[in-house]
Amino acid sequence: MKAISGKTTICGVIGDPVEHTMSPAMHNAAFRTLGLDFVYLPFHVKPRDLPHAISGMKALNIRGLNVTIPHKTSVIPLIDKVDELAAKIGAVNTIANDKGKLIGYNTDAQGFMEALNQHDVDPADKKVLLLGAGGAARAIAFILAETQAEIIILNRKQEIDWAYDIVKNIKAHYSVNLKVDELTDANLKSSIADADILVNATSVGMSPNDEKSPVPAELLCSNLTVFDAVYNPLPTRLLKEAKGAGANTVDGLEMLVWQGALAFEKWTGVHPPVDVMRQAAIEVLQK
Ligand code: NAP
Repeated sequence: MKAISGKTTICGVIGDPVEHTMSPAMHNAAFRTLGLDFVYLPFHVKPRDLPHAISGMKALNIRGLNVTIPHKTSVIPLIDKVDELAAKIGAVNTIANDKGKLIGYNTDAQGFMEALNQHDVDPADKKVLLLGAGGAARAIAFILAETQAEIIILNRKQEIDWAYDIVKNIKAHYSVNLKVDELTDANLKSSIADADILVNATSVGMSPNDEKSPVPAELLCSNLTVFDAVYNPLPTRLLKEAKGAGANTVDGLEMLVWQGALAFEKWTGVHPPVDVMRQAAIEVLQK
């Protein structure tokens, strides 16, 4: 990396917690490779300090921030402009400071789409079975709706209202074939039989519960594309079993790397070395 000087441009991530983020490794590796005079830092920001952190972004002339849990929604009223997709989703994960004007984007959603496209998967007019109704599922559901995919969301009974809320919001913006139901064995079996793409946006299978999968192996088959948002471990049990069944698989690290790559481009105006960012993330995961 270039030595930090009075001319160095600062980017970073705000979250609570922020200790486990892989973004500093990814972005700093990319800055180093391109010889850019930028540095990327983690900032642990508690919810009560979010307004100060955002006004500080302007005051300190920080060029870009990633925004992670729990600030993705609460940051919206604090910035100057929100791009159309992020406004529809109701979540911002990237802010660019454009000469003192803070503009919010959702590169999680775009990162998901780019991950599929990189594997030659186009969800347009396809049947997509989406598991989960949390933050990741919401971003994914909105970008899928933009492609006119046919979407079924399955979520656990106790929080099914979240899934209905996503459906209501998407239908307010898009004319799309979108259904929601409970995540039961019977619904999983009948919906997967019809699906072209299966997306796991639940946290099932995430370390330390690596032995878990949201879908029984016998339901997976070779004409499915299976995307798993979980990226720790790599591959997840779901992706191992999907591959074993002959399915096309896309891992969550691709989405993570592409959300970072799209943010990097907004801050620097330069296309990042995506392979370098991926390798840096893998090295963090292997530690
Ligand atoms: P979240 O908002 O907490 O949502 C978690 C979702 O998982 C909810 O729908 C929850 O259902 C469901 N869930 C949890 N345990 C379950 C179980 N035992 N059975 C069925 N469903 C269960 O979390 P998130 O931010 O959306 O993240 C979800 C996963 O995606 C995490 O593993 C996260 O690391 C990953 N992620 C990856 C990326 C990426 O770039 N690859 C980006 C964001 C997130 P209830 O509503 O019923 O609780």
